[in-house]
Amino acid sequence: MVSQTKFKILENECTACVKCSLSATRQNVVFGRGNPNAELFVIGEGPGQQEDEQGLAFVGRAGKMLDAAFSAVDLDTNKDCFISNIVKCRPPNNRKPLANEVSNCIPWLTEQIKLVKPKVIVLAGSTAVQSYLEISEPISKLRGKWIEQDNIKFMPIFHPSYLLRNPSKEKGKPKWLTWQDLKKVKKELNLG
Ligand code: URA
Repeated sequence: MVSQTKFKILENECTACVKCSLSATRQNVVFGRGNPNAELFVIGEGPGQQEDEQGLAFVGRAGKMLDAAFSAVDLDTNKDCFISNIVKCRPPNNRKPLANEVSNCIPWLTEQIKLVKPKVIVLAGSTAVQSYLEISEPISKLRGKWIEQDNIKFMPIFHPSYLLRNPSKEKGKPKWLTWQDLKKVKKELNLG
């Protein structure tokens, strides 16, 4: 069980962060959403416009797609996982976070993970894999394969924005592949 007090203290510190210039353009710091007591942690890239406005992770179009992909294997993103991002503030025009933004921000994520102590981490998209595991192979090569590090099992998947651009559910296509990847995650966690 995560200490609610420690998690809240971390959130308060994080939401006051001014370590990089993204703090000047953000509306809200997006600490994360979901269940900090879950055994599953999901890492995305960074907040978009909706997330910046609402202060919650993955609540825009990509978020709806993430919810739908999880729901297809009977996982509820608010109950079965905690979701956060590599950077907690929106990069202007949704550009990829810069190296200095990632290096300033990632300690927040590391602290979140230390408190949540997940068994499994889903890395959504190449920015999450590259920034957190420092692996730069394309996501198409990495997805679906477990990577174990520090006693945590990592599952890279396609980013939900990529699934929005590739809507076919046909066998072998990105959505179908993501479904297979999430089935592996569910099995690993014995969630039914
Ligand atoms: N894309 C992300 O990577 N994270 C979000 O929170 C929203 C969109």
